[in-house]
Amino acid sequence: MKLFLAVFAVLVAVHCEDLFYGDQVLRIQAETEDHLKALKELEDDVHLGLDFWTHGLSTDLPVDIRVPRASLYDVKGFLTVNKIPFTVMINNVQDLLDKEKAEMVKNAAMERSTKSFNFGAYHSLDEIYSFMDDLVTSHQNLVSKVQIGNTYENRPMYALKFSTGGANRPAIWIDAGIHSREWVSQASAVWISNKIATDYGVDAAVTALLGQMDVYLLIVANPDGYAFTHSSNRMWRKTRSVNSGSSCRGVDPNRNWDAGFGGVGASKDPCSDSYHGPYAHSEIEVKNIVDLIKSHGNFKSFISVHAYSQLLMYPYGYTCTDAPDQSELHTVGTAAASKLSSLYNTRYRVGSICKIIYPASGGSIDWTYDIGIKYSFAFELRDTGLYGFLLPAKQIIPTAEETWLGLKYIMEYVSNNSY
Ligand SMILES: [Zn+2]
Repeated sequence: MKLFLAVFAVLVAVHCEDLFYGDQVLRIQAETEDHLKALKELEDDVHLGLDFWTHGLSTDLPVDIRVPRASLYDVKGFLTVNKIPFTVMINNVQDLLDKEKAEMVKNAAMERSTKSFNFGAYHSLDEIYSFMDDLVTSHQNLVSKVQIGNTYENRPMYALKFSTGGANRPAIWIDAGIHSREWVSQASAVWISNKIATDYGVDAAVTALLGQMDVYLLIVANPDGYAFTHSSNRMWRKTRSVNSGSSCRGVDPNRNWDAGFGGVGASKDPCSDSYHGPYAHSEIEVKNIVDLIKSHGNFKSFISVHAYSQLLMYPYGYTCTDAPDQSELHTVGTAAASKLSSLYNTRYRVGSICKIIYPASGGSIDWTYDIGIKYSFAFELRDTGLYGFLLPAKQIIPTAEETWLGLKYIMEYVSNNSY
C-alpha cells in the first residue's frame, strides 16, 4: 500500500506540473495615452489569463506579457485593432522550459559523478541548502548558517552570516529570490556567497570590509515559492500561503511590507501576482526577515536582488516623492552601476523605484529605509527582455560576476560611511 501511494504521489506530482506549450511572451510598447488605457483594459480582463512579466504601464518602458496560447488570437487582435506596437519576445515558452530542465538534469548527473558544484547551473532548493552546508564546513572561521525561521510550508529559512567576530557588529543584509521565479537572482547569490568566502584574506577590500562589518546573505528568501517553481509551476512568483475565501494561493512578498502597505502598485485581489496580502507582514517569510532586522538593530545597508530589467533602484516605491537621501543614494547607485558595467558592458539604469519603473507599495527597501537603514537598494539583474525570467544558465556566472562588482562597491561605501 505504501509503495502504491508513493508511486501514485509521483504520478500526481508529474501530472500536476503546469505546462506552457504555445504560450508566447509579447513585448508591447505603448506610445500614447490611448494605448495605455487600452492596455489597462487588457490587464483587467482576468479571463485572458495574462501573466505580466514586467508591470507598470507607461510610454517609457515596454511591458512584457506571457499570453496563454488560448488567448493569443484575441490579444494580438486587440493590439492590432488598437494600433499598439508589439513584438514576440518568446515564441514558445515551453521550449525554453524544456531546454532549462534538460540542462538541469544533465548538470545534476555531472555534479554527482564529479562530486563538484557547478556555479553555472540552476539548482533546486535542496541542492542550494546542501551547497550552503559545504560552504560553512569549508570556511568555518568566517561563515555560519543562521536559521531565521520557517516558511509557511515549514521549510527552514537559512541566511549565511559572514563574520570575523565581535558582538553585533554593524552589518549589511543581502537577499535574493523573494520572487521565486527570478532564478538568476538565487543563482547569482550562490556564486556571490562563495566569492565572499574565498576572497576573504585574498582581496584587500573584502578583508577590510569583513574586519569591520558582518554580512548576512539570504540566498532563497521565498523557499516555498522556489520549491514550487521546480515542482509545479516555473512561473510562480508569490509565497504559497492559503488565502481565506479564495482558491488562489500566495501573496506577493514584495508588496507585503509595512511601507505604504496596500497603496498604489499592489493588488487587493488574491489571484493577482501583486496581491499585497491581508495585512502588513502577514507572510511569515517577510516577518522572519523583519524580526531578524529589528532584533539585530545594527544593519547599515539592505540590498534585495531581483530579476529582470537591469536596474539599480533605491527608495521610494510607494511614493514618487524624493527620499531625503536621494542625492547620495543616486550617486552611490550610479557609481555601483558603472562598476557593474565595467566588466561586460551590461547597462543598468539607476533611480528610485517609483520613478524608474512604477509606483509599488509595500516593498522591502522602502520599509528598511523608513526604519533608518539608509543604504537600501534593489537590483534587477539581467536581461532586458530577451529571455526574461528564463535566462539561460550560461549567463549565471557573468551575471553574478558583474553584480558582485556593483555590490562590492556599495558595501565598501557603506563600511566607509557608517561610523
Ligand atoms: Zn522581483
